[in-house]
Amino acid sequence: RPAICWFRRDLRLSDNPALSAAAHQGRPVIAVYIHSPEEAGPWAEGAASRWWLHHSLQALGAALQAQGISLQIHRGPALNALQTLIRETDAEAVHWNRLYDPAIIERDRAIKAQLQADGIEVSSHNAALLREPWTVKTGTGGPYRAFTPFWRAAQRESTPAQPLPIPPLTGPALNSPLHVDDLALLPTIRWDTDFPAYWQPGEAGAQARLHAFVEQPVHRYDTDRDFPAINGTSGLSAHLHFGEISPRQIWHAAPAHESDDVKTFLAEIGWREFAHHVLFHHPSFPDEPLNPRFADFPWADDPDHQLLKAWQRGNTGIPLVDAGMRELWHTGWMHNRVRMVVGSFLVKNLRLPWQQGEAWFWDTLVDADLASNSLGWQWVAGSGADAAPYFRIFNPIRQSERFDAEGAYIARWIPELSRLPAKHRHAPFEAPADVLAKAGVTLGVHYPWPIVDLKASRQAALAAFAKIKKSP
Ligand code: FAD
Repeated sequence: RPAICWFRRDLRLSDNPALSAAAHQGRPVIAVYIHSPEEAGPWAEGAASRWWLHHSLQALGAALQAQGISLQIHRGPALNALQTLIRETDAEAVHWNRLYDPAIIERDRAIKAQLQADGIEVSSHNAALLREPWTVKTGTGGPYRAFTPFWRAAQRESTPAQPLPIPPLTGPALNSPLHVDDLALLPTIRWDTDFPAYWQPGEAGAQARLHAFVEQPVHRYDTDRDFPAINGTSGLSAHLHFGEISPRQIWHAAPAHESDDVKTFLAEIGWREFAHHVLFHHPSFPDEPLNPRFADFPWADDPDHQLLKAWQRGNTGIPLVDAGMRELWHTGWMHNRVRMVVGSFLVKNLRLPWQQGEAWFWDTLVDADLASNSLGWQWVAGSGADAAPYFRIFNPIRQSERFDAEGAYIARWIPELSRLPAKHRHAPFEAPADVLAKAGVTLGVHYPWPIVDLKASRQAALAAFAKIKKSP
């Protein structure tokens, strides 16, 4: 009797423990993907993630076909879809790889219990993390709140196991009830036209990125990773989120673990592990500040969301912030340094709730990930685990001068400023009138005036922080 491999966010054939377990000893395999966004609670995939998922499912379907089996696509509820498939195929077992989003954990628990009650063998596996969240513990057995001791403890155990090869696959010939197109994952208004120039969703694209990265950029990671105009990071985040590649594969492909560059890179993989650890132990982390003091933070008024909209559209008048927001819109991704800067600007200079930034990122990032996005936003807001202290407020002009000294990143995403001399691209509102005129830039016409005074808003943020610091 066949075994079902239920694909979720593990859209790969290699190093896929559920697939290998299902195919164990030549057992026939039925591969299924079940589309059930309503089961993710409030955190169903956003628009950019749906774009990625569409292409990743196509790639998975083709990869399975090349191995001789077809991907079955069903609609949720997942339990019903699995029960139907079991009835139709007489499957005796179901295997899947674990996910750690709170709503999914609940759902999977209920499905496991029901299928076992139906007499089906059910196994879940770890495919997404080097160390599962509950296995890393402090001396007193609790969860970690700080990254460095977490990562030290996580690495203390044995090195991650070698990745699994693609198992030999056989399975019954089945017609899928749905095709990827039937899931209507692509946007109807085509804002995604630039995405294919940047991304190749699927396992082959993930492997190609990994190999290109470990060939060269990883050896300069420590220095290059902070400069948004350089391709100095791996670009693996969406591939990791959708499980097109595993952290174990990355770990074992990374050269010379003792070099500082490689260590720093692997520590970023560690931050991803830490994010899952924090989310697992604090299920309300995506919605509520981990530090309860921040629940009463005096946010600014933003009638009709004028400030939020200017931020979302990259029209704040602060070039590095706008360049980042436009990169996000055009590519579905933003450089990490700039994520921190746009986040700080939203939460501290505009004093808007971090949840509003989190929601926008959720909808527009191809790598939107509940654990990493919550960690990133609570880090920026100063309310999270191992967060930046609230009183450390990024000055986006200084950040721009430091990390985009040539103004190349700004010129790429805000072409209307590209004729300004590099040193004036960071703060065009401070440039002399004749310099602006020569570059053909009229502020308020070609590019906005700043929507907020950086100095005054910084003071206001510090005053707001002082209030919650004093509260009992
Ligand atoms: P690399 O520098 O090549 O890093 C390798 C991998 O390590 C990444 O692919 C990612 O999986 C992981 N990683 C790196 N930095 C972090 C981090 N700070 N936290 C957790 N994992 C990390 N990352 C997401 O994957 N999804 C998100 O939704 C997300 N939202 C963020 C929101 C904010 C406000 C901030 C400040 C950061 C956020 N990050 C998020 C973390 C980080 O910006 C991205 O992981 C990184 O920019 C992805 O690019 P890369 O793959 O080239 O990273």
